[in-house]
Amino acid sequence: MVELLFLGTSAGIPTAKRHSSGTAIKKDDKLYLIDCGGPVCSQLKKMNEDPKNIEAVFITHWHPDHAGGLPILIQDLQLSGRTKSLTIYGPKGTDRKVKLLQNIFIIPQEIYNFELKTKEYDEKTVYSDESIDFRFFKTRHLSDDYWKQLDAKHNFEIDPVAYGFMVQFDGKKIVFSGDLLNSDDLIPVLPGAELVIHEFGHINPNLLRTFTRKHDIPKLIINHIHHDWDSRDQELKEVISAEFQGEVHIAHDLWRTTI
Ligand SMILES: [Zn+2]
Repeated sequence: MVELLFLGTSAGIPTAKRHSSGTAIKKDDKLYLIDCGGPVCSQLKKMNEDPKNIEAVFITHWHPDHAGGLPILIQDLQLSGRTKSLTIYGPKGTDRKVKLLQNIFIIPQEIYNFELKTKEYDEKTVYSDESIDFRFFKTRHLSDDYWKQLDAKHNFEIDPVAYGFMVQFDGKKIVFSGDLLNSDDLIPVLPGAELVIHEFGHINPNLLRTFTRKHDIPKLIINHIHHDWDSRDQELKEVISAEFQGEVHIAHDLWRTTI
């Protein structure tokens, strides 16, 4: 069993109700943090969780709504006396980006009591401990020609894609979409998943409805909610549920659920 803690459920624009992306998976008192776009430490504390229990951080991609909260997370862990090392996982370029953040925000490694490490995903990366297993897959977010041109011009020094995750524990499998170009990015990883946490920042309701109608998904959580739908949870749920047999939930900040 794991608990899912939704810390930030907005897409690119945070709203009065929703902070930028952050989701924690809690297993055996360890927290695995997926994205750190908003004030995840404050949100964890509101949920009576200690950020020092974060075991690993997984960044889907380096947009601010997914990684903009990293400096204050590092500072929180430094000032609260963390001693256990912490690894931030992310796409190619993550090591350099974290070092730049440490420089920009005057939080160099020398002042921490813990070692901050980075690991960059490749196709074979696996995070695995005695409790849980994460595997990573690329989505096509930011992989179109326009973004390739911008990458060539500015040298973002990073994979112009996002990553999603397959999370496995106790014989169960969860798919966490990350940011998508299209729901079809998920098709290869759907078999055996009992829960799909699907972003709703780049996907319109009709596309999502078509996708859910075609695939056998027992349970769906809509996350990363576009600001146009910020106060329309019930309407969104009805749109998706109309032709979908599985269970549908619309994520909101500070929601905790179990699987
Ligand atoms: Zn996003």
